[in-house]
Amino acid sequence: MATWRCVKYCGACCNLDPSDRPELETYLNPEQLHLYLSMVGEDGWCVNFNQTTRECEIYDTRPSFCRVTPETFQEMFGIEPEELNEFAIDCCREQIEAVYGDRSLESLKFEREIGL
Ligand code: SF4
Ligand code: SF4
Repeated sequence: MATWRCVKYCGACCNLDPSDRPELETYLNPEQLHLYLSMVGEDGWCVNFNQTTRECEIYDTRPSFCRVTPETFQEMFGIEPEELNEFAIDCCREQIEAVYGDRSLESLKFEREIGL
C-alpha cells in the first residue's frame, strides 16, 4: 500500500496562487485566510519558499495549514485520521500535477517515494 510522505525538494504545495484554490474560504478561518493571502508572492509562490533550494525558510514556524497532521486535516477538511494517508496522497498528486505536470520528475519521484 502507498504510504504518504513529503518528498524533499518538491514544494508544489508552496505554490499558493489563490486562483488555483477556489475553495480556500471553506477550510481556512478568516485569520488563516488573511495569513495565507499575505504569503502569496507576485508569481503565486509563497514568499517563504526558497525557489533555488526548494525549501521552506520558516519550516519550524510554518502555519498550521502547511502541516500535514491528523489534527490539521481533521480541522480543515473533516478528514478522519484513518483517511489521512489516502487524502494526503491525492492532495499531493493534484498539486504536483498542477504545478509541475503529471509526467514531471517531481511526479515520478513522489510516486516512487510513496511506494508505487
Ligand atoms: S506537494 Fe506533497 S510532496 Fe510536494 S512538497 Fe507538498 S506535501 Fe511535500
Ligand atoms: S510557509 Fe513554508 S511550507 Fe508553508 S507554503 Fe510557505 S514555503 Fe511552503
